[in-house]
Amino acid sequence: MFDYLIVGAGFAGSVLAERLARGSDKKVLICDRRPHVGGNAYDHYNEAGILVHKYGPHIFHTNSREVFEYLSRFTEWRSYQHRVMAHVDGQLVPIPINLDTINKLYGLSLTSFQLEEFFRSVAEPVEQVRTSEDVVVSRVGRELYEKFFRNYTRKQWGLDPSELDASVTSRVPTRTNRDARYFTDTYQAMPLNGFTRMFENMLDHPNIKVLLNCDYQEIERDVPFREMIYTGPVDSFFDYRYGKLPYRSLEFKHETHDREQFQSAPVVNYPNEHLYTRVTEFKYLTGQEHSKTSIVYEFPRDEGDPYYPVPRKENGELYAKYKALADSTPEVHFVGRLATYRYYNMDQIVAQALTTYAKIRGERRALAVVAQTQYRSNGHGHGNSNGTGRLAPSSGLAVTNP
Ligand code: FAD
Ligand code: UDP
Repeated sequence: MFDYLIVGAGFAGSVLAERLARGSDKKVLICDRRPHVGGNAYDHYNEAGILVHKYGPHIFHTNSREVFEYLSRFTEWRSYQHRVMAHVDGQLVPIPINLDTINKLYGLSLTSFQLEEFFRSVAEPVEQVRTSEDVVVSRVGRELYEKFFRNYTRKQWGLDPSELDASVTSRVPTRTNRDARYFTDTYQAMPLNGFTRMFENMLDHPNIKVLLNCDYQEIERDVPFREMIYTGPVDSFFDYRYGKLPYRSLEFKHETHDREQFQSAPVVNYPNEHLYTRVTEFKYLTGQEHSKTSIVYEFPRDEGDPYYPVPRKENGELYAKYKALADSTPEVHFVGRLATYRYYNMDQIVAQALTTYAKIRGERRALAVVAQTQYRSNGHGHGNSNGTGRLAPSSGLAVTNP
């Protein structure tokens, strides 16, 4: 008899398996229909011996000390600050848009102060920022919106930015300083020996049984368990009773090249050309040294494995119906990006899982990670005194007592 059947061995499922087994001495069966643990964060050494991320680049970053310290029980880290270039007008320029982006793009030598003025002069006034278009045109105006965001977003989501919630493009800040980092979180690091090794360490406990290549529907009637933790798509759990919830998919094209370096940055975004959105070169992320190099192209797709919930009003409304069903199914806990239909990063999923664990234990404590997009400042201005371009948030972590 298992106390818990956990469906999905990604961050949500694995954190809960670990906590329930190690923290509460529960017997756990965790299954995944894929042939590996780690969910979308799974990494492995390819045929050339290069560590790659099967489902696209995963970079760990968080403002939550608690999340970072929790994961640190299962891995050592390699400090890594992510950088992305965008290919625009035939040049590679930093994204998030910063002082160097504008100076290079237009052949100028503006100061931060002048760039603020420039943004003010081109920004379109928007009464209420509702859509992903509003976010960008109200910060940097229509021309930069069209160069960097409009086409990338249409390619990535199959929707115009005006059809997507503001939360999507507000993940990417705008800066008037020269900070070229993609993230400004307090903790930015990659698991020293990869994500998969970290997951293996998490799940390495006598109370945890791992079953791979197994859809939970194949076993739920035969395996006795008390409660379920479900981390797959919520609509599929309820047999699409209210119709399909849109999830965006990707196709990954992996390549290995017989040279040491493929491109001049860890990730290059292609807003306006090609059918792929971006190219990632893994050795930058992992720090691995190798005479060859491996890259991945991401081709957005409508059909395929669900990777992204699609943040827009009508989808939120449909999800609310599924959430009501989920709330009236108390023997199943719905956790994770697919089961709660949230465009969450890894650290937010870890926080969500730790919060669910606290709830299961009857503790009235919620842990929420404040994502970069929720910062009061988007980096406009001169940044804070530590030069990060981030006006210090009160805390990366909100602990509330509901
Ligand atoms: P998942 O990792 O999706 O795990 C769910 C698991 O459930 C899957 O393994 C699936 O096979 C399994 N499952 C589903 N249905 C069933 C079933 N019926 N039976 C059995 N098993 C089932 N986050 C960051 O913080 N930084 C990044 O740089 C970053 N980059 C990303 C890049 C891409 C391309 C994508 C798609 C996501 C990225 N993320 C990133 C987000 C990150 O992947 C997620 O936040 C995190 O992996 C979600 O964990 P999860 O456990 O909720 O879901
Ligand atoms: N985006 C864009 N151009 C870019 C980078 C991002 O238009 O060069 C938009 C796009 O809609 C994307 C969103 O901002 O989906 C969030 O970007 P992020 O890099 O966070 O996406 P993820 O890594 O989650 O795919």
